[in-house]
Amino acid sequence: QSDFTQTSLFSSEVLLFGDFCRFLEVVSKEIGDAKKKKCAKFIQNYRNKFGNDFYPVMRLLLPHLDKERTNYGMKEVVLAKTYISVMGLARDSVYGQRLIHWKMPGSSKIKTAGDFASVAFEVIAPRSIVVGRGKMTIEDVNYQLDVLNAASGQQEYQKVIRHLFNNYTAIEQKWIIRVILKELKIGLSEKSVFLLFHPDACNLFNVCSDLRKVCEDLQDPHTRLPSSDIILYYPFKPMLAKPVAVQNVIKTMGGGFWIEEKLDGERVQLHMKDGRFEYFSRQVTVLFKPRIEDIYLFQIIADLFHPRVKEIILDGEMLEYDPLLDVYKPFGTLKTAGKDHSDNPNKERPCYVIFDIVLINGKSIIDQPLQKRKDWLRTLITENPGYLKIISHKECSTAKDLIDALDEAVMKRQEGIIIKKPSSKYVLNERIDDWIKIKPEYLDALGDSLDLLIIGADFGVGKRGNMFGSFMCGLRDSTSADDSPRFITFCRFGTGQTMKEAEDIKNNFKGWQKFDPNNPPDWLEVGKDKPHMIIPPWNSIVVQVKASEIVAGNQFASNYTLRFPRFEKLREDKDWKSAMTYEEMMNLRRQASGR
Ligand code: ATP
Repeated sequence: QSDFTQTSLFSSEVLLFGDFCRFLEVVSKEIGDAKKKKCAKFIQNYRNKFGNDFYPVMRLLLPHLDKERTNYGMKEVVLAKTYISVMGLARDSVYGQRLIHWKMPGSSKIKTAGDFASVAFEVIAPRSIVVGRGKMTIEDVNYQLDVLNAASGQQEYQKVIRHLFNNYTAIEQKWIIRVILKELKIGLSEKSVFLLFHPDACNLFNVCSDLRKVCEDLQDPHTRLPSSDIILYYPFKPMLAKPVAVQNVIKTMGGGFWIEEKLDGERVQLHMKDGRFEYFSRQVTVLFKPRIEDIYLFQIIADLFHPRVKEIILDGEMLEYDPLLDVYKPFGTLKTAGKDHSDNPNKERPCYVIFDIVLINGKSIIDQPLQKRKDWLRTLITENPGYLKIISHKECSTAKDLIDALDEAVMKRQEGIIIKKPSSKYVLNERIDDWIKIKPEYLDALGDSLDLLIIGADFGVGKRGNMFGSFMCGLRDSTSADDSPRFITFCRFGTGQTMKEAEDIKNNFKGWQKFDPNNPPDWLEVGKDKPHMIIPPWNSIVVQVKASEIVAGNQFASNYTLRFPRFEKLREDKDWKSAMTYEEMMNLRRQASGR
């Protein structure tokens, strides 16, 4: 089999798709450097023979980055159905079933389960109309894919797939299917392909997320770009956060660090020039179509920039703000979307929380330290809470600072924390030690959950002053009699801003009463930490709680407590009699420390 490392081996004056597929077959079987060498040779020979416009091939090599064909609306199931109908197979025939259940291991002869394109190849090959060398061009493939991208509905899909079936070999169809599924599986990362294409390709793609532009601007492999700067209205690849174990954070940071809340919204980069906004999400590198609420948001925030700001690119998180409760909710939860167009200040609305700035008036500032970028943010932007905010941070340096911040995040049921080096540059598309993320689930060292009885609660603050902000749990003293049970306080967990169960527990369970420290009820023993409200065990509910460890401490009557306790769910099947006892907690502690 030829590997297309010589120009003479291309069989036509225009690139035939069959030739490209032969290259893909060869390269996917190579390993390590040989793989890269073959690919480099192919690109070089392509340039020699067909000229410098590599975009038609690049978009087939890196289909997941092709933003002009973002969504074919076709995944394996629809492809299977369409092929079944084009080939006239019965759905319940062996091969029809094989396509539909492509994930299942087939007969011993067939070893391709789990890879739809290979399963499809097996089914198509014996029925294929075109055998031998295919005659179709790359141009035709791209045209068919464009049509497919614009198609909607089974009939239009069928037209394209029928064309493919009638004009392409089975191997060619296998590779087209891979392109449609946006995963070529040839073992070359996008970074490698870019590097083989041009030394500046990676940098340029990071700032523009646009394959066509990369191919157009970097036609000549020997001409270097002076620099790859972030470009207004082109989505750049944002900096990412690296997960690091809590015990390694201090060492990794090597000095003072900042802690920010890990916001639970949608990563959004906001580009603005002279009051015209465009915004991009991280996953979908295409322009967001602004909702009515977003247009309204842009109108409001347009006035919040310093008059000197003509162009700006911000990185941040889009959240949704509920003014009645003064809470920020995840993006996409807006209930009133599209319905209520009024300027009602109590209406839920999107709110953009900025955590970085990368360009100002045509000048990229990603090489400036975070500290300086943050100063710029504060000088150039006026916050308007509920519309536009700049994320706040805590300046920290010790392990205690870190644990306290984590405690607070867990108590407030936040998604986690992000730890940043104040001296760090903004590094595009990298997950490095300068930005670290820690989520509560990384802390679940205590494998088992604990089923704990709620014995008390505290009210929230501000607009949530009449809701419960945290619950206190107790452990049953197993030596107490069933007709006069006793509970000792053990831990407290936060309800966060929007925990629905908290309201249910407050409203649906009767018997809540104010706790009088001078006159505690017989059934309860408290420590230093005292609840505002208590509820008798026989009226209360059991909750399932996850935590990282059981630690000694004198806050609670049990002299032990949970580190990073997190509510998982209500246990309505349990009651005060089956909730955890002090003895059971001590056993769990012994087991956990023996691990
Ligand atoms: P995850 O599911 O943990 O969000 P991810 O792969 O989407 O992972 P990462 O880069 O690993 O993203 O984690 C950082 C993400 O956290 C960002 O994409 C961003 O959406 C979000 N985030 C929330 N708050 C912050 C913040 N203060 N600084 C940076 N990123 C933040």
